Amino acid sequence: MDITVFLGAPGSGKGTQAKKLAETGNFQHFSTGDMLRAAIHAGSEVGLKAKEFINRGELVPDGVMIELIANALSKLPSSTRAILDGFPRTVPQANALDKSPGTAVTRAIFFEVPNSLLIDRLTGRRICEKCGQPYHVKFLPSSAGEKCERCGGKLIQRPDDNENVVRRRLEVFAEQNDQLLHYYDGSKKLRRINADAAVDKLQSQLLGLLK
Ligand code: AMP
Repeated sequence: MDITVFLGAPGSGKGTQAKKLAETGNFQHFSTGDMLRAAIHAGSEVGLKAKEFINRGELVPDGVMIELIANALSKLPSSTRAILDGFPRTVPQANALDKSPGTAVTRAIFFEVPNSLLIDRLTGRRICEKCGQPYHVKFLPSSAGEKCERCGGKLIQRPDDNENVVRRRLEVFAEQNDQLLHYYDGSKKLRRINADAAVDKLQSQLLGLLK
């Protein structure tokens, strides 16, 4: 398997780019945030465990997350090109990927965005209730107004995109990120990308890095 992990703050555009890459048909997108939201929606055991952490802007414990991603990756053919968006978020998670058979990471791409942009990006974000497609009230509005332009679903604000929770999520990110960058830099797998750029421009840069 070819595994790329997307690193970057909440709101740095990882999900938007990963979804676009998946639409090319050449990559499979795994968003642990989307998986957890689906688990909450379904009322599963993982969802029940995760909900309180998510709503407070804290990380869900490593044990839960490692099992979740291991299950998702275990079913894939070895020809898969996987994009992991939102995993790993801690060094123990990164270690778990590299240690399990067949899931060693090929490259890590860090989406660099000035901190000052993130609060606006996150609090203005809307997602489709049905398919999870992200939008932004100012920077990426839906051409279908309050509906998703892809599937017609209703656009909602994530409960953890309110300003107080967003501030905590950014703090949590800052606490973990340097160690993660160091981890992937150490194995020469780290690439950095200036993610303060238009969606299409960023996508073509990513396609270059993923060749
Ligand atoms: P995201 O959609 O990636 O912003 O994730 C939403 C929330 O899900 C995060 O704020 C965390 O509470 C939780 N979460 C998602 N991925 C992970 C992970 N790899 N480790 C711990 N918590 C996670």
